[in-house]
Amino acid sequence: MDAPRQCCYSGRLFVCSPMDRQRTLIESIHCTGIGLHSGEEVHLSLRPAAAGTGVVFVRTDLARPVEIPAKSKFVVDTALATTLGKGNVRIGTVEHLLATLFALGIDNCRVEIDGPEIPVLDGSATQLVDLVRAGGVRVQTAPRRTLVVRRPITVREGDKQATLLPASRFSIDYTIDFRHPLASEQSLALDIDAATFCREIAPARTFCFKRDIERMQAVGLARGGSLDNAVVVDDFHVLNPGGLRFTDEFVRHKILDVIGDLALLGMPVVGRLIAVKSGHALNQALVRAIATEAAASEIVEARPFSGTWNAEPMLVTA
Ligand SMILES: [Zn+2]
Repeated sequence: MDAPRQCCYSGRLFVCSPMDRQRTLIESIHCTGIGLHSGEEVHLSLRPAAAGTGVVFVRTDLARPVEIPAKSKFVVDTALATTLGKGNVRIGTVEHLLATLFALGIDNCRVEIDGPEIPVLDGSATQLVDLVRAGGVRVQTAPRRTLVVRRPITVREGDKQATLLPASRFSIDYTIDFRHPLASEQSLALDIDAATFCREIAPARTFCFKRDIERMQAVGLARGGSLDNAVVVDDFHVLNPGGLRFTDEFVRHKILDVIGDLALLGMPVVGRLIAVKSGHALNQALVRAIATEAAASEIVEARPFSGTWNAEPMLVTA
């Protein structure tokens, strides 16, 4: 990709706004939960971070804390969840938290975790949204960098495909087909901003098929899974007593996952993602393709901010 260049957004793709400034949390926030795959209880803290830090995960349970930046080059596993690693240290199931920070515009955050996996909570991002809201959002003075798609970028694997197209905003058009009566072809197209994310995407829970649970548990996955933190379906029915939160909850959760995977670019994206049956592995292939197909995208940086910024607005308005 080209080096970032100074750019006045006005008259181009953007209008100058607080969204042009980096953002972090006002206060540290904490929660406790279990990992979906590990089944272990972990404590999660989200802390403010200086401009330019990005999102950095920190394993605090080790003799010497290990920091792993939320960047695609640290992805070490994409089986059912996205796992980051450095050396022998792992942090799994990062995608729901990353999607939340990305959609709510949090550029800089120190994510401390005392175990190998981010807590699954209720299987959706609703409680993570509540956490970020509780911490509050601080607009920082440093300009934000944004990845703007200039030419189509496509990755394929069999009948799966993910394409990023030039567009004036960030939007996702996602199609799934699990050849299951409840999750056969299901499509949804949305412009993604904080309000849309909180209302339409964050409540969608992770899901699995009953027939896959034994297979996953045999290889050490889904040990913490239950009807409290995942939608489980048998051949014809949803097994959760409360049913689905949306009739198309499955495709909405896949959109949540892909936002978290794209967040590993480390900056907001302006472009339209069209995904067909994509998953974590292909999502990461797309992120790598963005990095290698230099002419297909451009990193645009807002002009340095020299005025005074009066407000520290809480911009999440769902
Ligand atoms: Zn997920």
